[in-house]
Amino acid sequence: MKPDYLIVGSGLSALTFGALMANSGKTVQILEAHEHPGGYGHTFTMAKKYTFNAQFHYVWDCGEGQTVNKVLKKLGLDQEITFERYDPQGFDHMRMPGYALDIPSEPEELIQRLSALFPEFKINIRQFVEAVEKTGEGLKTLSPPIKPTELLKHPIEVFGTVLYLHSTLQDVFDKFQLPQAAQTLLALQWLDFLLPPNQLSFYAWVALFRGYQAGAFYPTQHFESVINALVKVIESHGGQVLLNHEVKNFRVVDKTVTGVEAIDLTTHQTHEFTGDTVICNIDPKKAAKMIGVEKFSKTVRRKLDYEYSASNYMVYCVVKDIDLRDYGFGKWNLFHTGHQDLNAAFAQMYDRHDFSNPSFAITTPTFLTGARGDCPEDCQIVEFLTVANYGYFKQLRETSHKAYTQKKQEILDSILDVVEKHYVPNFRKHMVFHITGSPTTNERFCWSPHGNSYGSSLTPRNMGLGRLNQETSLKDFYFCNASSGYPGFAPTIWTGALLYQKLSGDEILGTS
Ligand SMILES: Cc1cc2nc3c(=O)[nH]c(=O)nc-3n(C[C@H](O)[C@H](O)[C@H](O)COP(=O)(O)OP(=O)(O)OC[C@H]3O[C@@H](n4cnc5c(N)ncnc54)[C@H](O)[C@@H]3O)c2cc1C
Repeated sequence: MKPDYLIVGSGLSALTFGALMANSGKTVQILEAHEHPGGYGHTFTMAKKYTFNAQFHYVWDCGEGQTVNKVLKKLGLDQEITFERYDPQGFDHMRMPGYALDIPSEPEELIQRLSALFPEFKINIRQFVEAVEKTGEGLKTLSPPIKPTELLKHPIEVFGTVLYLHSTLQDVFDKFQLPQAAQTLLALQWLDFLLPPNQLSFYAWVALFRGYQAGAFYPTQHFESVINALVKVIESHGGQVLLNHEVKNFRVVDKTVTGVEAIDLTTHQTHEFTGDTVICNIDPKKAAKMIGVEKFSKTVRRKLDYEYSASNYMVYCVVKDIDLRDYGFGKWNLFHTGHQDLNAAFAQMYDRHDFSNPSFAITTPTFLTGARGDCPEDCQIVEFLTVANYGYFKQLRETSHKAYTQKKQEILDSILDVVEKHYVPNFRKHMVFHITGSPTTNERFCWSPHGNSYGSSLTPRNMGLGRLNQETSLKDFYFCNASSGYPGFAPTIWTGALLYQKLSGDEILGTS
């Protein structure tokens, strides 16, 4: 079989692109190294009864008429794949000693809540939130494919937005002189970027913050249903998703990518695959190394010179004979920090590997949809997430498995101590299952270089004009993943759809 599109990797952007192409009558073949499709969006089952999504927690841009909905409609999946909304009165619950703020959907309500906490900074708070709104509108106009008529219609927003091109979130906090505690409450979803305010692109923060304000969602039938539905579209149109196939090399003839060499991890045999066009969902930098970086144009080489985003530490956990709703959990996430300064908290954990005063997220997927099936009725699933340094964990794992396991346990204990002290007394007594994931787990199960969480790091440099896109400068070869588009559920769906739009000429995204 020589498909129209040979796709390397089955992450969400690849599945979206593949499903759209298959649906339009093209032949599609996907090669995936893992035993599950979906990349970071894959779901796994433990102890035969607990299912966990590897990395997705909550998502945005899924409402009627928004990106995800447009793509699902095109695929005829919008009735099958539906979403539940988080509490608009407070989708992110920010907690730190002495302060609590639930982030509401309405910007005006956010101003009121913050002003009640910091009355002497009312004006600064209003100005900051208004700048966020304006920048968000400007970013929409500037998002590709850019329409010159739109730029002309919104010159003030566009100009105001461009001014922040090189800004970190910290730069903008400083500009509006927000008090430290207000900064921390606003930036406490830093786990969604795995970067602290002084490194995080203001653009990235605005896009995500406003995205969740407009609607934070969870799929009614869990994330697995989205991945399975996309795979089904591909297969039902005669396409293939071949699991356990690790691509080891690309075939390149005169700057044209013609196919790949892949090893079947179940038989250890190597096979060649060809395609009229090859789509690369794996990390672009890793693919470029396999191909030979010198084969790419200077411009693409420059764009490939990005730093990876930080890696993470996850706890997938099940509790029994307790209802966490009695302890303040529900249709929202909880973000905790012991440290008032998130820049310092990040450095303590990421650079010094000291988790004695951790900053972390707690998510409770069981409460987000009435559709159960993720665990038995008398259980609830809870997940904890924080940052972790790949180099450190890699070294621990290679030098002493005992030390590696001990470090994972130490972080878990530190998080659970906080949980028992501040949120759920005797939490440990109710834990019936847990498993932890480290940066090297990401590398092993999702083939992600350095265990990176979001592809290229979300700094102003990587989010600026030199950001990589689908263009590779090689013939019949395109990038299609978080680093060549944007990371996240909706952004990777957008990335796949944008490439489909470009190669098929079928305009499905329009303006949102
Ligand atoms: C801790 C964490 C939390 C997150 N939380 C959220 C969230 O709450 N909401 C949200 O919207 N987003 C979240 N994300 C981001 C989101 O998961 C990713 O941005 C998105 O899933 C990336 O999709 P992708 O298409 O780039 O491909 P990936 O998911 O990176 O998939 C790439 C695929 O390629 C395969 N592959 C790699 N090398 C090879 C090879 N040589 N041969 C064959 N196959 C190969 C991999 O196995 C993988 O399946 C989170 C990510 C992390 C890490």
